[in-house]
Amino acid sequence: MKDKSACLRQDEADRLRGLRGQFQLNDDEIYLDGNSLGVLPRATPARVRQMVEEEWGEGLIRSWNTAGWIDLPARLGDKIARLVGANAGELVVADSTSVNLYKAMSAALSIVRADAPGRTRIVSERSNFPTDLYIAEGLARQYGMTLELVEPDEIPAQLDDRLAVLMLTHVNYRTGRMHDMAALTRDAHDAGALAVWDLAHSAGAVPVDLNGAQADFAVGCGYKYLNGGPGAPAFVWAHARHADRFSQPLSGWMGHAAPFQFTPDYQPAPGIARYLCGTPPLLSMAALECGIDTVLAAEPLGGMAALREKSVALTELFIELVEARCAGHGLVLASPRDAAQRGSQVCFARQEGAYAIVQALIERGVIGDFRAPDILRFGFTPLYTRYVDVWNAAERLEQVLSEGAWREARFQRQAAVT
Ligand SMILES: *Cc1c(COP(=O)(O)O)cnc(C)c1O
Repeated sequence: MKDKSACLRQDEADRLRGLRGQFQLNDDEIYLDGNSLGVLPRATPARVRQMVEEEWGEGLIRSWNTAGWIDLPARLGDKIARLVGANAGELVVADSTSVNLYKAMSAALSIVRADAPGRTRIVSERSNFPTDLYIAEGLARQYGMTLELVEPDEIPAQLDDRLAVLMLTHVNYRTGRMHDMAALTRDAHDAGALAVWDLAHSAGAVPVDLNGAQADFAVGCGYKYLNGGPGAPAFVWAHARHADRFSQPLSGWMGHAAPFQFTPDYQPAPGIARYLCGTPPLLSMAALECGIDTVLAAEPLGGMAALREKSVALTELFIELVEARCAGHGLVLASPRDAAQRGSQVCFARQEGAYAIVQALIERGVIGDFRAPDILRFGFTPLYTRYVDVWNAAERLEQVLSEGAWREARFQRQAAVT
């Protein structure tokens, strides 16, 4: 097993180590929750201040043109496209992940309804993130279809001639299990259905190739691995073969072919621009761009492939250290042991005290999170996480468990956000 000095040497040799300097990090803390809220990039405060003081304060309404505000959803979309195997012009930033999923799923269901009206099943994973399931449940009701939830291993058997849409999150939020996007999309297509992917835990975390996988629609999140800040806008992508087929259901003026003609009737913009709805949250867009840029900064160093290589090394190290040092403390690996099937996070289940253990760890400067009912979740963002952080986190976890510190009453009181 590695010792601490080996971790320090690995950090020295890490060609991505300079990327950490892009972030405002407290060196006394180990932040393992970038899969929930990415860290603040150093560039963000100045950029947001510039937009407030110069573009808004001085430029006022002119800034829509002079500061390029109107182009931000497409410009940021083009940047994210580079991270997920999409082409320029195929992806836009808009709304939230939940809202984008509603738009993408509606479009997918409309296409299937037109091409193959007998198909009435939407299939997803039982442990998919709740908002995805709730959105699909609402749409199933609206379209007179059924939503069926299955375990990951049961998915291939569900792809039949009544399937309309296979809707999956590429990397599961609870377990970190990663689906084979290309294989499942191919299977869904062979069954005559469409595949809609949520990249919330993938964009900026693992290599994604939407066009290579021939996926139909995708959505993703701006505030996790893209470091866009709390409540950052999300993104939506449609394969070029679908982009012009249907107008999305939230037919707002920003998705109109000519918003400033102010015509009374709706004409969708060509391509992905129709997936815009209303006026974008520009301050949040400015912050998101700084976040995306922190990931693009890895491009000259090998890009997503290099980030993935480090992410795998970090998660392997954490599993190895925790299993060795915390043996006998009731932690059970809840993420796939095979790195090829794992995203950039590691989760352990524990029958008792998972919430309190996470709180006790946070007090000791290791920030992970708890996912009900029994999961301790740790995200490893290769942009800023060091090997020595992994070593220290495992050590503090061992201390919390062996000292029983988590049993104190103050760690048991559950806050609104876990
Ligand atoms: C984080 C996450 C979301 C978040 O959706 P919001 O609309 O931003 O609240 C949705 N889906 C998945 C799979 C997520 O991990």
